[in-house]
Parts: sequence; C-alpha cells; structure tokens
Amino acid sequence: MKAVRVNEFGGPEVLSVEELEVPSPADHEVLVKIEAAGLNYIDTYQRSGLYQIPLPTTLGMEGAGSVVAAGPDVKSLKPGDRVAFTNVMGAYADYVKAPEDRLVPIPDGVSFDEGAAAMLQGCTAHYLSQSTYKLGKSDRCLIHAAAGGVGLLLIQMAKNAGAFVIGTCSTEAKAELATAAGADEVVLYSKQDFKTEVKRITGGEGVTVAYDSVGKATFEDSIDCLSKRGYMVLYGNASGPVTEFNPASLAARGSLFLTRPALFDYILDRAELVARSGDVFNWIREGRLRLRMEHFFPLSEARASHEALEGRRTTGKVLLKPEGT
Ligand code: NDP
Repeated sequence: MKAVRVNEFGGPEVLSVEELEVPSPADHEVLVKIEAAGLNYIDTYQRSGLYQIPLPTTLGMEGAGSVVAAGPDVKSLKPGDRVAFTNVMGAYADYVKAPEDRLVPIPDGVSFDEGAAAMLQGCTAHYLSQSTYKLGKSDRCLIHAAAGGVGLLLIQMAKNAGAFVIGTCSTEAKAELATAAGADEVVLYSKQDFKTEVKRITGGEGVTVAYDSVGKATFEDSIDCLSKRGYMVLYGNASGPVTEFNPASLAARGSLFLTRPALFDYILDRAELVARSGDVFNWIREGRLRLRMEHFFPLSEARASHEALEGRRTTGKVLLKPEGT
C-alpha cells in the first residue's frame, strides 16, 4: 500500500510517499481501507518537529473508510462497516489499522468525505464552544482564522448557541466565507488592527471569550480584546508558539482566565468520543452545520497540501484522497 511517511523532521519536502505492507489487525483492532484522510494543522507541527513524535511514522490523525478485516475479539464492527476516526496515527495511507474503540460509525446520509472532514476539526469546535467555554446568548466571541477548518465550524456552533461572533482572517475572499458561515462582523487582521476593531464593535466592552489558534502573532492583542473575567482560549500555533507569559498580567487586565486546551483531553474515553462526534454528525444531517470541502489532493501530493495549508491558501477542510477513491 502507499503511505506518506516522515523519516526526519523538516519542511513539506520531508514527506515521502513509500510502499508499505498492508498491516494486520491485532486483538481489538480493525483494518480500514481509507477513502479520505483529513489534513490538519497538527500534521504540520508533527512533520516539522514543533510537536515531537517518534519517527519514522505515517502522518495523519483523521480519516474515514470501510472496515475490510477485524482482529480477534472485535465485537462492534465487521467488514463493510463505514467508519470515521480521529486520534489514530497513520491516516495518510491506503489502509490503517485502528483500535475498535477509536472508530465511530458514519451515519447514513453522511459521505466518507464528510466523515473525514467532521472528526478532528468538528470535535475541536465542539469542545471549544460547548466545554472549554460554554457559549450562550449573552456571549460575544472573537474567532481568529475564521475561514479555516476549525474557524468556519466554530463560527456556526457559536451562532447556533446564540453568541455574537467577530471573526478575523487575512483576505476579502476569506471574509466572505466567514460572513456566510454566520459571523456578525469580520476584521481583516492583515490590514486592520483587530484589537481596535473589537473595541469599536463592542462599544469598548470587549469579548467574553477569545478563541486564538494563531498564537504568537495575535496572543497578546487577543487578551486585550477581553472584557473583565473573560476567557482567553489559546488552542493553536499557526504563526508560532507562545513561549512567555506572566500570569500576574491576567489580574491587571481584568481577572482573566487563560487556558491552552488540546482535543485529546476533551475526548477522554469512548463515551466522550461518541457524544461529541454524534452531536457533530447530527448537526450535519440536520443542516445546522455545513462543511466546506474545496481542497482535495491525491495522497501522492501530500507535500503540496502542506504547502497550501501553511501558505494560507486553503479555506475550510483539506482532504487527501488515496488513488481510486
Ligand atoms: P486552518 O484551516 O485554520 O489553517 C490555518 C489558518 O491560520 C490559515 O489559513 C491562516 O488563515 C491562519 N494563519 C494566521 N497566521 C498564520 C501563519 N503565520 N501561517 C499560517 N497560517 C496562519 O487550520 P486548522 O483548522 O487545521 O487548524 C487551525 C488551528 O487550530 C491550528 O493552529 C491548529 O493547531 C489548531 N487546532 C488545535 C486543536 C486543539 O485541540 N488545541 C485541535 C485542532 C486544531 P488567515 O490567512 O485567514 O490568517
């Protein structure tokens, strides 16, 4: 089978398409033939070494496909079942073997592409809006990289919860997408000072929560966008990691809260995986959550997909497709 491997940390050029044996599922594992793999920003951190992972490895933490074989003791799945997953390493390949309890069935009416597109970014937007900070009608929130994969989903979930949403992004075309997803206001942070704009839009009050996935370039100004006792949710490093911070400044700036959450602490067990992904799939089927899937790359062009994501040339979800799917 074909697999996209990382043998050493580095830029997109270190991604190498290699021929590997199709793995055999062990106890409680199934073999999944992948129909679509999700590209996520975390893949770039794992490739570059910002997040250190054991090498060599097959990249990719999200995908969807059909069960083709089940190991001994597998109870809930059989060949032919349509499944989706996140937090299983090795999705950039024709096949992946996965623990039975990390897979969720894809409901009827949801395609493989939608299944792959919904899991990691969908569950992330879910925990950010429902658990890290439970958004409601009285909230005003700031969402950076609003036209990105997580961004477009988070806008919709925030609007469904009744919150007022200010999105940021770098281009007019991206701003149109954020507005179409429901953002009440969109600030072009490439041209405008977003801190000033947030203060203007909120009449000086600020936002109750800032969702910041851009990191280094926006972190300090995002904090300054908060109202008193507001929540700073730093959940990514697209512009680089935040490495220095003085907690005492949270008091000086209005008794603020700061958290740095990670998806896998919000999927602590199977029950939480099933509940979060179940909500996401239900919202897709009910039309309350729209996935934007515009960027498809063959598996063999994984390098180009990383260059596009890191080059800020993508919007919504990016999918990698094995040959013949
Ligand atoms: P996106 O589709 O949002 O792509 C990243 C976007 O970040 C770009 O399109 C760009 O939008 C913006 N950006 C701002 N500055 C830069 C920069 N210097 N270089 C590159 N991009 C920049 O990616 P994802 O939806 O996959 O992920 C979004 C963020 O969420 C990532 O930081 C990721 O790590 C984080 N994340 C965190 C999780 C968690 O649990 N903690 C889980 C999932 C994702 P624009 O051009 O509009 O500025």
